[in-house]
Amino acid sequence: MTGARAWKFVLLSVLSALGGFAEAAVLVLVVQIALRLARSQSGLTSGGIFSTDKLALSTLFVLAASLCVVRSIAFAGSSLLGASISTKVMVSARTQLFSGFIRASWPVQSSEAQSHLQDLTTTQMVAAASYALVVAGIVTSGINFLTLLLSAVAVNPIAAVVMVAIAGILFVVLRPLSRLAKQQSLAQSLGTTEYGSAISQAVNLAQESRVFHVDDEFDSRLKTAANDVAVSYYRAQVLNRLVPTTYQSLALLLVVGALWFLHELHIGPIAGIGAVVVLLVRSLSYGQLLQGAYNDLQYYIPYAERVETAIETYRRHELKGGTIAVGGLESLELDRVSYSYDGEVLALSDISFAVGRGEIVGIAGPSGAGKSTLVEILLRLRSPTRGRYLVNGIPADELDLESWYPRLALVRQEARLLTGTVEENIRFLRDGFDDDDVARAARMAHLETEILTRPGGFAAAIGDRGGALSGGQRQRLTIARAIIGAPELVILDEPTSALDMIGESVIHGTLDALRGQAMVFVVAHRPSTLRICDRIMILEHGRLAAFDEPGNLASTSPFFKQAMELSRLD
Ligand code: ADP
Ligand code: MG
Repeated sequence: MTGARAWKFVLLSVLSALGGFAEAAVLVLVVQIALRLARSQSGLTSGGIFSTDKLALSTLFVLAASLCVVRSIAFAGSSLLGASISTKVMVSARTQLFSGFIRASWPVQSSEAQSHLQDLTTTQMVAAASYALVVAGIVTSGINFLTLLLSAVAVNPIAAVVMVAIAGILFVVLRPLSRLAKQQSLAQSLGTTEYGSAISQAVNLAQESRVFHVDDEFDSRLKTAANDVAVSYYRAQVLNRLVPTTYQSLALLLVVGALWFLHELHIGPIAGIGAVVVLLVRSLSYGQLLQGAYNDLQYYIPYAERVETAIETYRRHELKGGTIAVGGLESLELDRVSYSYDGEVLALSDISFAVGRGEIVGIAGPSGAGKSTLVEILLRLRSPTRGRYLVNGIPADELDLESWYPRLALVRQEARLLTGTVEENIRFLRDGFDDDDVARAARMAHLETEILTRPGGFAAAIGDRGGALSGGQRQRLTIARAIIGAPELVILDEPTSALDMIGESVIHGTLDALRGQAMVFVVAHRPSTLRICDRIMILEHGRLAAFDEPGNLASTSPFFKQAMELSRLD
């Protein structure tokens, strides 16, 4: 808890105590006034330690009214504080969650389901923030309960003891129900996340769903998912409503019993008894709030814990670089590198090679051979399970990330874009590129003419994640994004597989422009793309089957030979 938040909790307690005492005093006064009014009609006399016989009735009214104002101001203050604490908790938890995610290592990021973080930072977060509100509520109700209790002690100690006993009994009796509520709310929290990911999957696959004519199947899957969540939702809601009403009924019953008890013992003067009964009933309603808040706490704890766990996981897997600054990329070397995703099966096995500045290296091989895994190791998105990755002869994990990543660029098979304008996507949140740089990158990616003939030009919105562009245009946009920063290591992972002839020739043009400037790795299938590489590595079953110039490979690699022959049939 931060200092500021602790300070707010102290103020909250003070305000609650002030409001509680004001309320207790009002209740005592109301009883006195009522007795005074009754006495003036029936001639009853009142005694009691809180006798106000010496004060004028009008003074009592003014006093009671002023105390009401004090109570309302104090409680308004504590409401504001409660809301402010909860808001701060929400903002800080959201910030920590996303900052954690964006700084977590790639293996952790990539295993995160798309909808999970979204769900955690929105729906689940609101519940988690309510947790703070509930803690504030517990402080408030607890202190109010205590102040009314202290007031009752001043009026009649025995009655006060009875009051505590009643509250204690109720709390213990209703605890199993609270525990049940906690279990149901955890089930609900998990169920909601699952439902969210089922929905996002269905939205992503809406087109396929229509064309393959499985709308009804999706519908019934989602209906089942909705029903699954509904069960835990229903149970949690029932429990949340059942506990307060049960509390009220039990409390009333116990108050009746307590009155009978006090009557049998012949305790205290009439005014005292009257005031105690009023305080008793009122304090039990605070007791109920306390019980309710305790229940809510059980309900919200799982949400808060899930947020907490996610933050913890991200922190534990925070991306860490070394301390050596990279001056310029001269060479990359893999020394007997293996990589396993699950600790058992090797996706890459015993790979060794060295590549120097300015080389264009093609990577080919059947699907699942480990090409993308290799690429992620080269980018330092993953660390080798075994073996060493050397950059300029230095172990890669000793290099600092600040000087490493600005030298890199990546073009993936699937163009992933920001919802924004063309130039925003070329700059991609990076500073230091002026309009000329943007135009040059677009020209190199053969995109400039097309963009300039569209309304808005570079400032035109490209729709949600590039929805207003064709697949080829989107891909060329990611090429412009990659080459604008004059990168030294460029990785293209199957950039041509989604491209038409123009797109492919853009890639070839880009490769030529980078030749001699940067180290380039291009994962490709098309012989036309592979042929312009200086050297080609063939990956098969996670092993480096061959690494040679294109001219030599036809005789040494059956895979390459076959690929070339197939292309001739086109
Ligand atoms: P390629 O890019 O050559 O098609 P990949 O590098 O993507 O191949 O995959 C190599 C192997 O690693 C495959 O067997 C694939 O199933 C496995 N693999 C890839 N990504 C993951 C992952 N995130 N978790 C577990 N296994 C993976
Ligand atoms: Mg791949």
